[in-house]
Amino acid sequence: MTSIGEYLQAGSRLTDIDSELERGIKEGKVLAAGTIEDLAHTLKIDPGTLAETVKEYNACCDNNYDFVMAKDRQYLHAIKKPLFFAQKLSVVIGITEGGIKINHRMEVIDNDFNVIPGLYAGGCAAGGVVGDVYPIVTTGASDSFAVNSGRIAGESILKYLGK
Ligand SMILES: Cc1cc2nc3c(=O)[nH]c(=O)nc-3n(C[C@H](O)[C@H](O)[C@H](O)COP(=O)(O)OP(=O)(O)OC[C@H]3O[C@@H](n4cnc5c(N)ncnc54)[C@H](O)[C@@H]3O)c2cc1C
Repeated sequence: MTSIGEYLQAGSRLTDIDSELERGIKEGKVLAAGTIEDLAHTLKIDPGTLAETVKEYNACCDNNYDFVMAKDRQYLHAIKKPLFFAQKLSVVIGITEGGIKINHRMEVIDNDFNVIPGLYAGGCAAGGVVGDVYPIVTTGASDSFAVNSGRIAGESILKYLGK
């Protein structure tokens, strides 16, 4: 299947899902079956539960409203036509956001925006670096901040110590 790097280079779009699925099946990363029940057997999970889950999801699609997970309407596509596919996915936490409030010198500030002397934060420990959307297509957005906030904090610490 497409790696995150390939995915980003392709403009964050799966442009040919059929060949991607074919490749996934060949590589043993995607499973396919003619019925939901057969797919459940292949996955070694309860067929009744999977069939019920798919039925519930399809009802959301038919109603154009996901009452289970509040999925965006534009992505609601019913699962009705075989083949049915399954792929193991995993979740990765890349960064944390919304940490300690800082100023441009990486000094930690309190709720009233006053500097707490001698306290510094940078990298993922610092908050307010990005807005409400993480810019995943901006290469090095977090790494560069981690490195440079550390550098700036170091400079600020030297000044604080009078060196
Ligand atoms: C899979 C993955 C992919 C990523 N890809 C990108 C990318 O392509 N581009 C990009 O810009 N960013 C990327 N990031 C994010 C980037 O790695 C982080 O933003 C960056 O590493 C944050 O640096 P940091 O120094 O704030 O924290 P960290 O790198 O987490 O460093 C914190 C350090 O503190 C140590 N520590 C924790 N607790 C203690 C303690 N109590 N005492 C002493 N030491 C402690 C930890 O062991 C660790 O070494 C990725 C992250 C992940 C997980």
